[in-house]
Amino acid sequence: MDSGTFSNEIHVNRKKGCKKLIVRVKQDGQVYVTAPWLYPKGQIERFILQNAEWIRTQQNKSAAKRKYITESRTHFTHFHSLEIAKAADESLRIFVKDGVIKAIVPHSLPIERQQIQDALRKSIELVLKKEAQTYLPQRTMLLAKEYGFQVSEIKFSSAKTRWGCCNSQKRIIFSYFLMTLPFHLIDYVILHELCHTIYMNHSKEFYALLDRCCGGNSKQYRAEMKQCAIDIFPKFAEGEE
Ligand SMILES: [Zn+2]
Repeated sequence: MDSGTFSNEIHVNRKKGCKKLIVRVKQDGQVYVTAPWLYPKGQIERFILQNAEWIRTQQNKSAAKRKYITESRTHFTHFHSLEIAKAADESLRIFVKDGVIKAIVPHSLPIERQQIQDALRKSIELVLKKEAQTYLPQRTMLLAKEYGFQVSEIKFSSAKTRWGCCNSQKRIIFSYFLMTLPFHLIDYVILHELCHTIYMNHSKEFYALLDRCCGGNSKQYRAEMKQCAIDIFPKFAEGEE
């Protein structure tokens, strides 16, 4: 079916048990219509036109909500670049080698298509996890030594609700999305958790200690952190890494 005025094609699925037309807009903006078996094509088209405004509103909503990975970047993560290239055919391949996340995406599909975005996200998350496992323990131990903290264990999680946490046994867990922050904010989060090995709260004393460890910049860093969403996207500019 011709998509007409919509930004994506429309998928029509005919079902035997279906009694009426149902239209859905998926997260990537694609439109799915479920229609009764043998329902006239012209009527489906009319139905879509009648609902055009609603469909467009849904598409705009999901586009605003979703952030897409669309472009190559020299430092998508601190230690890996992202290279996106179009395949000669419709295949999708992503491989990680020598500091490069290489994505060969289907020739004719828009890169915003969910299956491509999901695959890209998955690869980038794996890279972030590896980078976190390599970088964060040594960095944490270095800062701990410098400021006289003790840590019993460092672990990682895929948490998207917090950057890190520390328990009373001085065990620190970092979200591997921490690697998407600029280095000075990674240090800030590490120092925040290290200060919890002394104070298990967010008291005045805790913040005073943290501020001393941050050279008096903790307020500024805290404000910068508020702008950072916990997701796969880099929060540092190219060349700032
Ligand atoms: Zn805290």
